[in-house]
Amino acid sequence: MTNEQVERRSCARIPTAHGDFELCLYSCGDEAKDHLAMVYGQLDGSAQVLVRVHSECFTGDVMGSQRCDCGAQFERSMALIAESGAGIILYLRQEGRGIGLLDKLRAYNLQDEGYDTVDANLLLGHEPDERDYRVAAAILKNLGVRSIRLITNNPNKIDQLQAYGIAVEARVPLVIPATTENATYLRAKSSRLNHILDLDGSADDSEPSEIARRNGRRA
Ligand SMILES: [Zn+2]
Repeated sequence: MTNEQVERRSCARIPTAHGDFELCLYSCGDEAKDHLAMVYGQLDGSAQVLVRVHSECFTGDVMGSQRCDCGAQFERSMALIAESGAGIILYLRQEGRGIGLLDKLRAYNLQDEGYDTVDANLLLGHEPDERDYRVAAAILKNLGVRSIRLITNNPNKIDQLQAYGIAVEARVPLVIPATTENATYLRAKSSRLNHILDLDGSADDSEPSEIARRNGRRA
């Protein structure tokens, strides 16, 4: 497994409703798209850093689309990191679980015909989830981060980051209430993509054992 080459090009202070973030732009090898790191506060060493790895979603992040939960997840992650005093949001340019905006729009039309998010991707000739987190691991290493507490509901993200050399010490769940527009999508995320979602409102208290099991399996 080769290590992705990333280069930090420039950083600038971005004042937000949650306080100041330092936004750093990365070039990654010969990839056309730049990836972003939003750093909050003093990281205070490289271990146990609170991190969100967010994949670009124009419709959710910018338009506030109710088809998915991305916009709310992004907003909640900024709040969580600001409340905790320090952390990083990586903003990866892999729209639509990696299929791009054009096919994401086509997939939405298929979903309006009754296909779920996984079958819509398959019908368009894609994998259910084409996202790769190698570049995320490379950017974290560039920022001097060795171990993280990851804000996510996606076990595949944890597995990939660990495979790429980032120790995931804990999972911090993102609890976003479902809406009538995204309830079907969230059910598919849970049942077909193995996301850990609390769709019936019950408390999730299985975190420590879940991470221990993952780490144990990998040891
Ligand atoms: Zn989205």
